[in-house]
Amino acid sequence: MAEKTIFKKIIDGEIQADVIYEDDQCLAFRDIRPQAPTHVLVIPKKEIPKLDDVLEEDAPLMGHLLVVAPKIAAQLGLHNGYRVVINNGPDAGQEVMHIHLHILGGRRLGWPPG
Ligand code: AMP
Repeated sequence: MAEKTIFKKIIDGEIQADVIYEDDQCLAFRDIRPQAPTHVLVIPKKEIPKLDDVLEEDAPLMGHLLVVAPKIAAQLGLHNGYRVVINNGPDAGQEVMHIHLHILGGRRLGWPPG
């Protein structure tokens, strides 16, 4: 059987994370290596490795993540804006093969991204 990803271990409570939101479909926790003053990851509890692997049947789940993200941003006080990022595959620098939304805020973010 394939080794669990670090995010699956967080979902299963095997390793600790600074969880700030949880419901039946997803979990949000602070990134361990923040790239902005506020950097949170939102992950589905369903194991989907990357955006390329999302199925038609996952549309409600992916929509749910996008509904939850602004609520978390508001809860964290990101009233002046924030960025939501999904890294997909090697060229995007995806490290963890469990799909996740980055919520980044608390400073002016450059564009285009590096
Ligand atoms: P990505 O490059 O899009 O795959 O992003 C993976 C993110 O997960 C990186 O920003 C890491 O800092 C973050 N990360 C890795 N391990 C942990 C962990 N145990 N707890 C919180 N964030 C983590």
